Amino acid sequence: MKRSASDLVFFALKLHEKGFVASTDGNLSIRLASGGFLATPSGIPKAELNETLLAAVSPSGQGKSGRLSSEWPLHFAVYRRDPGVGAIVHAHPPCATALACSLETFDTGFLSEAVMSLGEVPVVPYEMPSSETLADAVAAALRNRRAALLANHGAVTVGPDIRTAFYRMESLEHSARIFLNARILGGARRLDDEEIAALLRLAEGYALADNPGYPPRPD
Ligand code: 13P
Ligand code: ZN
Repeated sequence: MKRSASDLVFFALKLHEKGFVASTDGNLSIRLASGGFLATPSGIPKAELNETLLAAVSPSGQGKSGRLSSEWPLHFAVYRRDPGVGAIVHAHPPCATALACSLETFDTGFLSEAVMSLGEVPVVPYEMPSSETLADAVAAALRNRRAALLANHGAVTVGPDIRTAFYRMESLEHSARIFLNARILGGARRLDDEEIAALLRLAEGYALADNPGYPPRPD
């Protein structure tokens, strides 16, 4: 529990450091071995986060302590739909969010790394932040997906653990930035179907490796 809490705070602070959120933007959560969850609190800037501010949630999704994030319905809908999801990151990274405001889908087929690390990234049509309709739409869009963009709002990534979910957000923002730069230069060539299929085969044997000792933990 302690270790999970410190990991959650570590990556929340990193989300702020990387500029993927401003002020109180964004929320992160993890599924605990007990079946319950830990989530970031509502309305607290990620830059100010510490373990005592985290919200604990029961296996049935009820807040037990702390000021639970207003986007908890979204997190819980994703956890309910996919038992393989162990962590969720929601942020408002500038380039990915710009795409979310202007595209109907983010086709990552222009960039080899994005094909391998993210796959298809759907854009979920706008729904009111914190609403059950947004939660249901995001959970449906994330089925067999690693990332989704939320129109006129931001982005969500999932993973088996918080480290993976964080780095998927980093990859998403990095790919979005390259996409926007390529557009300035006249647009990127899309890889053909054969090239994409070869990348997907390569990706099968390639994953974020375990790194004992990371994230570093307080004694
Ligand atoms: P919370 O502060 O309630 O987690 O909300 C932030 C956010 O990004 C809402 O979409
Ligand atoms: Zn948000």
